[in-house]
Amino acid sequence: MATGPAAGQQPEVLVIGGGPAGLVAALYLARFRRRVLLVEDGHSRAARIPRSHNYPGFPDGVAGTELLSAMRSQAARYGVHFATGRVESVSVEPESFKVEWNGSSVSPRKLVLATGVSDVAPAMPHLAQALQEGALRYCPVCDGFEVIGQAVGLLVDDGSDTQEALYLRHFTERVTLFPVSRGVHFSESQRRELDEAGVSRVAEPVESLRLWEGRVTVRHGGEETVVDSLYGGLGLKVHSELGRHLGAQHDEHGYLLTDRHQETTVKGLYAAGDVVKALNQISVAVGQAAVAASAIHMALLQGR
Ligand SMILES: Cc1cc2nc3c(=O)[nH]c(=O)nc-3n(C[C@H](O)[C@H](O)[C@H](O)COP(=O)(O)OP(=O)(O)OC[C@H]3O[C@@H](n4cnc5c(N)ncnc54)[C@H](O)[C@@H]3O)c2cc1C
Repeated sequence: MATGPAAGQQPEVLVIGGGPAGLVAALYLARFRRRVLLVEDGHSRAARIPRSHNYPGFPDGVAGTELLSAMRSQAARYGVHFATGRVESVSVEPESFKVEWNGSSVSPRKLVLATGVSDVAPAMPHLAQALQEGALRYCPVCDGFEVIGQAVGLLVDDGSDTQEALYLRHFTERVTLFPVSRGVHFSESQRRELDEAGVSRVAEPVESLRLWEGRVTVRHGGEETVVDSLYGGLGLKVHSELGRHLGAQHDEHGYLLTDRHQETTVKGLYAAGDVVKALNQISVAVGQAAVAASAIHMALLQGR
């Protein structure tokens, strides 16, 4: 079995991020007998998944923490080294990158950014419990199936469009939009589209959200509406700042753009998972990670 880098040896590849994308990139690289170090600050989005039912291989579903722990022990088995910390600084050197965190510094030949995104959370007490109970959700692609026929709410802000509401409407006839501020306005044609689809709209902004017996009570304009599940459609923060600092191209939301080998527009800088413009899903993240790791291995073999 291959082993990881000895203490003091420079990693050939540094993976930043310990979610599904980072762990799978590191696993592949270690099995390609590359010296690989993975650094992360312990905030994988996957750790918030109460139970995923669309990740293949788990007919009864799998908790996000359980999946991460299995992926991590698989990577460790092949010699991946792990470090904990938030990477604050990256720079390009003639033949490598320089990466620093918590007083540590390494100079890998290749870098994989698997830093993900995070959901903008609504102001709500007992948020973690609400997520765990499926009363609060963020990802209709992931769990629309779980809310079939239920009373579903969707929080909207001034940046929201109608797409997510119409997407949810496919799973249930009982969808209600709750604006979080007075600044939320839909155009005439958007309102018509929502009306025709049978999506309800509440006029007054949300005053408070409360978790009660696995459901959410939404208070608005002095009234209360109870929903079985509330989706927080308040957007995402894309953690691409390290790549953008190096000059990697990105779209208007901050998602990194890559070629078909997952290499960004900066040579030697690869990206995989939610931080890349694609479907924010674990299957996609691990697929991109496999592609990135294979391309890195080939580039190193060929002395590129
Ligand atoms: C409630 C919920 C339910 C979901 N359900 C599903 C589902 O059922 N099926 C599905 O396919 N997907 C689901 N998802 C989406 C899934 O979680 C993501 O697609 C997946 O986690 C993406 O993996 P990733 O490795 O790209 O990013 P992440 O898992 O978010 O990992 C990012 C990593 O980068 C680290 N990091 C970020 N910045 C730095 C830095 N500067 N320095 C060091 N480390 C850093 C973080 O600590 C973390 O380790 C769900 C998401 C949520 C929130």
